[in-house]
Amino acid sequence: MSIAENLEAVRVRIADAASRAGRDAGEVELVAVSKTWPASMVAEAFEAGQRAFGENKVQELIEKAPALPEEIRWHLIGHLQKNKVRKVLPVCASVHSIDSIDLARRVDRIAGEEGLTVEGLLQVNVAGDDAKFGFTRDEVRGVIDEVAGLEQLAVRGLMTVPAYDPDPEKVRPHFARLRELRDELASASGWQLPELSMGMSHDFEVAIEEGATLVRVGSSIFGQRDYGTG
Ligand SMILES: *Cc1c(COP(=O)(O)O)cnc(C)c1O
Repeated sequence: MSIAENLEAVRVRIADAASRAGRDAGEVELVAVSKTWPASMVAEAFEAGQRAFGENKVQELIEKAPALPEEIRWHLIGHLQKNKVRKVLPVCASVHSIDSIDLARRVDRIAGEEGLTVEGLLQVNVAGDDAKFGFTRDEVRGVIDEVAGLEQLAVRGLMTVPAYDPDPEKVRPHFARLRELRDELASASGWQLPELSMGMSHDFEVAIEEGATLVRVGSSIFGQRDYGTG
């Protein structure tokens, strides 16, 4: 199957999942995760109408973006090291992986210095597993007022990356927990937190049923990645 056909198949699955949940498919944005794949494949997806792309590494993003159309909205979905903030902000529209209060403050300050605004999502470790990155739910409750009040970093919602489980039903409770946390924060703080970034190739349908507004899908569009571990 071509990238265009894969994209179409994913869009159909998004629409079906939304309709099962009684949601409008237009509420769900597909972020095509192009990490490890060359710019030529991103261009192919762009030709097929895709506009939002996700990368998890700053270096790869800043190398790929200049070769590609400016209409692309790049989403940084992997951990952002503090010393790379200034480099990445000019090329990315949204940072899904705001995972500490220090990072939030720094992104806000540097965006201000560079005359930019950037959208951000707070990454939450809802499973409470030993994932390396992400706020705990209690930490988010403690920082929401400060981060939502930042001017140059526009916090739009929450994101999570649960540990991989081949059975999407096992992941569903984590997605539900992220939505519940968002609802709780929004009503307690009065901040609008419309976005929920959750769901990847093997579990995005369940994520949509649980309220995802951004799904991050890589291998179902571009194919299995080869990290060269062999
Ligand atoms: C790689 C990645 C994805 C996409 O994973 P697929 O299984 O290829 O769809 C989504 N989110 C994050 C944070 C990733 O690093």
